[in-house]
Amino acid sequence: MSQTSQVEKGYFGEFGGSFVPPQLEKVLQILADQFEKYKDDEEFNRELQYYFEDYVGRESPLYFAERLTNELGGAKIYLKREDLNHTGAHKINNVLGQILLAKRMGAKRVIAETGAGQHGVATATVCAMFGMDCTIYMGAEDTKRQALNVFRMELLGAKVVAVTKGQARLKEAVDEALADLVANYENTFYLLGSAVGPHPFPTMVKHFQSIISKESKRQILAKEGRLPYAVLACIGGGSNAIGSFADYLEDEEVRLIGIEPAEAATLTKGTTGVIHGFKCLVLQDEEGNPLPTYSIAAGLDYPGCGPEHSQLKTTGRAEYVTVTKAEVLEAFQILSKTEGIIPALESAHAVAYALKLAPTVGKKESIIINISGRGDKDVEQVFAMLKDQ
Ligand SMILES: *Cc1c(COP(=O)(O)O)cnc(C)c1O
Repeated sequence: MSQTSQVEKGYFGEFGGSFVPPQLEKVLQILADQFEKYKDDEEFNRELQYYFEDYVGRESPLYFAERLTNELGGAKIYLKREDLNHTGAHKINNVLGQILLAKRMGAKRVIAETGAGQHGVATATVCAMFGMDCTIYMGAEDTKRQALNVFRMELLGAKVVAVTKGQARLKEAVDEALADLVANYENTFYLLGSAVGPHPFPTMVKHFQSIISKESKRQILAKEGRLPYAVLACIGGGSNAIGSFADYLEDEEVRLIGIEPAEAATLTKGTTGVIHGFKCLVLQDEEGNPLPTYSIAAGLDYPGCGPEHSQLKTTGRAEYVTVTKAEVLEAFQILSKTEGIIPALESAHAVAYALKLAPTVGKKESIIINISGRGDKDVEQVFAMLKDQ
């Protein structure tokens, strides 16, 4: 196989690629070609920009967290407010980009997988807006634990299919969605939720999430006249983090730091393996089966991670660290009390690391924390956890 076809297949060093049956390979190649065709298309980008502004509410502010900064006594802390987007998180950036592509490809039907339901809700939202038929695959176990999200998706007009096979969790939901795609690819678009999966998904999701760092770079240069000391983001599959890092990758002096839960420390502790059709650092047993993970933040509960993060970790361009559940709960409360901003539990992981990092960095420097989502969805869970302490 030639070097170019390796690049075309979406390799990031040894990671990424596409490890899928031939039938699916064909469908993904069509998707890759269409993405290449439209990603720099002027009309496509004009439409995307229109919905970013008028539907999502972009650009999202880069907010100077003055009280938190003073309290910590070190680097200036800036919050990139993805929590202010319509539907309350960064996921809308990606689903909007992909649904515009689905429309261009003539798809009549959109399918997606969801774990806790956040990506399912984001997908159902844009399908409602465009009047597209929407089917969400969700593990039967997850539908029981996340009954309200199932109702949200139904309210938005989506059909939720509870998958009862195997463990009846995210993995089985992905398998069912892929089987649906192979059977119905002529009219169906599979809208994947993070910077994971076989090529072209990691590349495509990064492209649509890069709006975060495009904006933040412009914003920090306007406010500070210089690049930040570091950019911090939490890591589940890695989409908000790769979007937050993208525009700084060439700026070697900017530290890029991904924060994982200690209980799902894929990049910190994982080894090379194949999961869901691509190669990445993964938490696995000796036979290569993914290990169960547990995180208090449902959005971070994934045993693999994006292939580009796996490469950035290997080359050392980005750093990956873990924080504990107790540190996350503390950070969740501190940001709420000092800034009046309740972050998603996922985002609170990045905040938790910033609390440790900022005091060690000079006052002239700045640190950007990507607040990937808002915490309304987590308040009840945190209430229960704090009560038990
Ligand atoms: C889904 C989600 C995440 C994790 O997903 P990534 O692909 O790693 O970004 C993080 N934060 C929030 C608020 C989420 O909804």
